[in-house]
Amino acid sequence: MTEKLLIKYSEIGVKGNNRYIFEDMLVRNIKSALKEMTHPCEVRKADGRIYISYEEEDYEEAIDALTKVFGIAWICPVTQLKPVPFEELKAQVVEFVRRTYFAEGEEKAFSFKVNCRRAEKSYPLNSMEVNILIGEALLDAFPSLHVDVHDPEVMLNIEIRPKDINIYSVAIEGLSGMPVGSSGKAMLLLSGGIDSPVAGYLVSKRGVSLDAVYFHAPPYTSERAKQKVVDLAKIISRYSGPIKLHVVNFTDIQMKIYELCPHDELTIIMRRYMMKIAQELAEREGSLGLVTGESIGQVASQTMQSMLVTNEVCHMPVYRPLCAFDKLDIVAISEKIGAYETSILPYEDCCTIFVAKHPVTKPKLDRIVRSERKLEGVIEELYREALDTVEVIEI
Ligand code: ATP
Ligand code: MG
Repeated sequence: MTEKLLIKYSEIGVKGNNRYIFEDMLVRNIKSALKEMTHPCEVRKADGRIYISYEEEDYEEAIDALTKVFGIAWICPVTQLKPVPFEELKAQVVEFVRRTYFAEGEEKAFSFKVNCRRAEKSYPLNSMEVNILIGEALLDAFPSLHVDVHDPEVMLNIEIRPKDINIYSVAIEGLSGMPVGSSGKAMLLLSGGIDSPVAGYLVSKRGVSLDAVYFHAPPYTSERAKQKVVDLAKIISRYSGPIKLHVVNFTDIQMKIYELCPHDELTIIMRRYMMKIAQELAEREGSLGLVTGESIGQVASQTMQSMLVTNEVCHMPVYRPLCAFDKLDIVAISEKIGAYETSILPYEDCCTIFVAKHPVTKPKLDRIVRSERKLEGVIEELYREALDTVEVIEI
């Protein structure tokens, strides 16, 4: 008898011939998530299942790590037996219930249902017979229990498989989604705010690995503001895996726009330059799209007209997973993933320094393009320089 964690996955089960690629990726990500455990764990793929052997004292630590791995639907602590004769199985299930629910010796009352699944068809009893006989054995051993086949408080699962038998009754919900790495890579525009870390998390949940870019404007934005972005990238990387964070010095570009363009158009023009630079870095790094934390109508630069004008410089897909989210819903996810406390630290971000009192909310593309012509001849060199002096931080 050994204690293991059985990993159930949902979406990746339906990928036909690609299934093994997804499974292998999930196994790799699980191993990497468990790398820092107090004691080493063994992660094994067997018969379309993933099992993890672990030291019992590390249970909480393992669950904490696994509940951050995309692609896991459920984590079930199982007691695993070698195939045994039915009488012994019955005794082991009674023992399992005693250990799991009556450890402190107290009298407990709850409803249960035995749910046997038999992948090994040569087992002498069929599933229904196992359900009935084990149900009876449990009622005999624990008179305080009763059976409820429709809405049981405890579902006692028994899986009879060719090489082993699993007994379990607890399933801890995972994040679901797809294993990171199974969908290519994207470049996240990561600011120090609430939205962009959540956007990165959500895209990563679909199996996308992330790189990130932060536009830094020293001395208008401080080292602490940059450190905050580094900290946020670390928080996202607990879910997404390693992130290559690109810090772009944006000061000169921003100053030039401020100097030469109408102030109410500053944010839009600046955002167009951010997108262009992010796109170039994405291409350099083999990313297949950009990700932003924009949400329709949240601020002047996120009206649909503004996004049309900003988006015009992009030929890559720009993923905006929060476009239809309300702020409160974004905050809830930010809290759930542990980013909120960091996101609300009060360090200035580079957009807020130069914002006009009354920015355009319905910019017209031809006017913006006309304003940008004033930058011709000076901006190109600054643009190149910004790209040539990118600082890369491996998270
Ligand atoms: P956030 O909470 O993510 O900062 P926001 O509501 O403050 O978003 P904006 O400042 O308009 O909105 O930025 C919109 C999006 O543009 C951000 O979600 C982010 O993806 C990107 N962005 C803004 N500023 C920066 C920056 N300094 N560096 C990198 N990306 C940025
Ligand atoms: Mg912001």
